[in-house]
Amino acid sequence: MSDSIVFDRRDFLKLVGIGVAGAASGCASPPAEKWIPYLVAPTDILPGVPYWYASTCRECPAGCGVLVKAREGRAIKIEGNPDHPVNAGGLCPRGQAALQGLYDPDRVKSPQVRENGAWKPISWDDALKLAGEKLGEASRGSRGIALVTDHATGSLGALAAEWAAAAHATHLVYEPFAHESLREASRRTFGRGEVPRYDFASARMIVSFGADFLETWISPAGFARGFAQARAGSSPARFVAVEPRLSLTGANADEWIACPPGTEMALALGMSRVILEQQLGPVVPEHGALLGSLAAFAPESVEKQTGVPAAKVAALAKEFAQASPGLAVGGGIAAQGEAATALHAAVNLLNYVAGNVGRTVRFGRVPNFDAVAGFGEVQRLIAAMGAGKVEALIVQGANPAYGVPAWAGFAAAMDKVIFKIAITEAWDETASSCDWCSPRPRSSRCSTPRRRGRRCSRWPAARGSSARGPRAGWTTSRRAGSRCISAWGAARTSKRSGASRCRRVACGKRSLHPPCAGARPRRSRPPSPRGRAAQLSCSTPRLRFTTGAGPTSRGSRSFPIPRPRRCGDRGSRSIPRPPPGSGWRWATA
Ligand code: SF4
Repeated sequence: MSDSIVFDRRDFLKLVGIGVAGAASGCASPPAEKWIPYLVAPTDILPGVPYWYASTCRECPAGCGVLVKAREGRAIKIEGNPDHPVNAGGLCPRGQAALQGLYDPDRVKSPQVRENGAWKPISWDDALKLAGEKLGEASRGSRGIALVTDHATGSLGALAAEWAAAAHATHLVYEPFAHESLREASRRTFGRGEVPRYDFASARMIVSFGADFLETWISPAGFARGFAQARAGSSPARFVAVEPRLSLTGANADEWIACPPGTEMALALGMSRVILEQQLGPVVPEHGALLGSLAAFAPESVEKQTGVPAAKVAALAKEFAQASPGLAVGGGIAAQGEAATALHAAVNLLNYVAGNVGRTVRFGRVPNFDAVAGFGEVQRLIAAMGAGKVEALIVQGANPAYGVPAWAGFAAAMDKVIFKIAITEAWDETASSCDWCSPRPRSSRCSTPRRRGRRCSRWPAARGSSARGPRAGWTTSRRAGSRCISAWGAARTSKRSGASRCRRVACGKRSLHPPCAGARPRRSRPPSPRGRAAQLSCSTPRLRFTTGAGPTSRGSRSFPIPRPRRCGDRGSRSIPRPPPGSGWRWATA
């Protein structure tokens, strides 16, 4: 007699769910036994409901704060974090396009080794064993190990430094946009080798000597936000662009001064001389010495060098000093030659004599380029590799074979290294020249694909779960009829063509509804108590405590899940927890 197969109703529904999905995909891989239908959904994911987590954009060294929108474990959108001090909610096109890298079909997905000139996938165990053996040999040998990382700060940077110290390796932090000339100029003029923080929002007049701050310079997303604030209102800040080529930034200027390439520094020094000579700025103790050193930059001399009329130089200096505070910035194409440091020093001097230092030009820890290597250190590493003094090279998140100028010979020196490791996102020039390669997670990465029992290696999977305690079921508290269930972004409202529309991030409601009407109208203003209450009652997912039903029940309480604010937060770090032994427990959704 054949064995009978007994299905209960739940198993039958699971199989039907898998069968329908398999038919839709042509019964292709992955194998059916690894599929988990959402009939058994993870407790912290509601199908169809997006959630957000805070992260940092790493497409350039600015490090803008981002909020990544994810659905069912997949990142689907990146927005600027309105609470982040660098970008205040802004995001440049590169940041918006960062998702393309996450879903790039050609990205590195698994460890691979080069065998006979061809790349071959291997398991993580074999890859780690091979790398450990090779690095062990290198550390015991007479030659050394070199570790090249990208501009990683925080715990990742500290980990790389500790690893290099333990392995007696040379550690080099490589960043193509290192702003070395700007840091050196700041060190010489102000004694602080840092990239200053420029406050565009507070400036009443902006003079740019080649700096394309709306495109690529230092922190374009944050600068664009500050520039927009400076230009808003009834008395917008005036903007003068001094550059030989009209850039996109220059196209936004009130006035474009097209001086010949390389003469921007003379114009900046001429303006400083006029300000000192006519005492248009604050009193500076070095007045006499500075005026003496600028003797060669009278407006008439500047006119001969730059072609800008002497009267124009004097008028520009007077206007800049009287704007108070103004802001002068230099960079871009004007800082690409041998005189780059001199140009930045001239711009620093102009800001100093006009009284802008401490008002629109500040020094602090952001942006932090302290650990970034100078080009001299890069050249020393190239020389060591070329001389055969490096046995193993590890490159993590950087592409020096492309970023270092070809004449410096980084790619050629790599050939002299015996074993090369690349930890990278894409098959770039450096990874292609290595012997061992492994994937590197992206800042926008989340649990993709999510399978039962497997959690994301870097990012928590969803709000409402915690590594410190039992996984909490969570539910959303919302008003009947409203679909506005996620309020990580700030709320604002707008009216177009007489029709109102709720602009809250992730709000799916077309028409303005009463709770959102009470929320703050602009992102830059703090919400009113009424608006905050409306946000909490209408939109913020909440955790519920309950003591169960029956005559002993004491009802239930609910608490909002805090909004994510810092990198890595999902708003779950300070979720209220029931006191032990109180009888309160989590209520499931
Ligand atoms: S400026 Fe653009 S690319 Fe750079 S960190 Fe900010 S969003 Fe990312």
